Amino acid sequence: MDFFKLSNAGNAKEYFGVNWALTTKCNYRCSYCHPDLYNGKIKTAEFEVISNFVDKVFEYCDKKGLKPFFEYAGGEVTYLKWFGDLLSLISPRGGLVSIISNASSSLDWWNKHVHNLHGVYLSFHVEGIKDIEHFIQVAEIIEKSPTTHLHVNVMMLPERFAECFAFAEKLRSRVECTIALQPLYYGFGGAGITGKYPYTTEQEEIMKSFRGRSYQKDIPEPRGSMMVSMDNGEVLKKSTFDLLIEEKTNFVGWDCNAGIENIVVTFQGDIYRAWCMQDGPIGTIFDAQLELPASPMLCRTKICQCGADICSTKVKRKVRGNIPQLVAV
Ligand code: SF4
Ligand code: SF4
Repeated sequence: MDFFKLSNAGNAKEYFGVNWALTTKCNYRCSYCHPDLYNGKIKTAEFEVISNFVDKVFEYCDKKGLKPFFEYAGGEVTYLKWFGDLLSLISPRGGLVSIISNASSSLDWWNKHVHNLHGVYLSFHVEGIKDIEHFIQVAEIIEKSPTTHLHVNVMMLPERFAECFAFAEKLRSRVECTIALQPLYYGFGGAGITGKYPYTTEQEEIMKSFRGRSYQKDIPEPRGSMMVSMDNGEVLKKSTFDLLIEEKTNFVGWDCNAGIENIVVTFQGDIYRAWCMQDGPIGTIFDAQLELPASPMLCRTKICQCGADICSTKVKRKVRGNIPQLVAV
């Protein structure tokens, strides 16, 4: 590590993040995805429970002078029949919602709900996609929404690398949005990442250097960009993707604000500080009260592997005392 502090850029201080794994149902069956993310075996809680928890988060945020920022992922959240109602509960109250989606819902769905979405992270999965033109048209709907960020992750399956790359270039020529060519990892969506898929040096270089098109929209930036305080006194702005690709995500022995600035919610409704799940659950969405930690935790997990986790403020301890055993990832 050549830096000692990671803090949020943008408007992060005004927001409290809730990264919520909402549904295990998906219309795709990507080979690199854990079946628990698409087989629907874990049932999503009833809408009443979900909306009650959203109310509790708003109450918690009101006390802290913050606004909630919900990030929903699955599965494919846009197929939940009440998902549009959920968006209507949050956006008019000043909360923000961002989603991860494979873009396969109808153009009508996107046209109807895009104004309630602060951010959309579309994922291009070459094995599941039926209609590339539909994907691009969804991206164009989101591009036109003045209050919605758009980012596209192209999942780079090594044996179909050229196809994925050609799609990314086509998308860039049609739509103004940021694009990342995402390397695949073994263990995605399961108990932990165990390694990267094999790529040639040339493919690695392409993934590192490819970018989409930057755009200007006057909307808040609650999470995602980080200020990196370097040992030499410089302060650099980087995305979580930059840190991941540069392999600068080992924070063992650092203080981490996960649980203070943000929480995560599992498919079962359990609440943790972060997806590393270090130190166990801190509540559930079924609890009568939402009580959250006030102090940072000492990181003992070797790789901070998820964008949502990397986004919490982290500070290297000057004196690293006793660091308990590493948590396996
Ligand atoms: S990677 Fe995403 S789109 Fe593919 S099966 Fe898993 S949840 Fe569905
Ligand atoms: S792995 Fe967990 S404890 Fe460590 S920095 Fe990331 S979120 Fe914080």
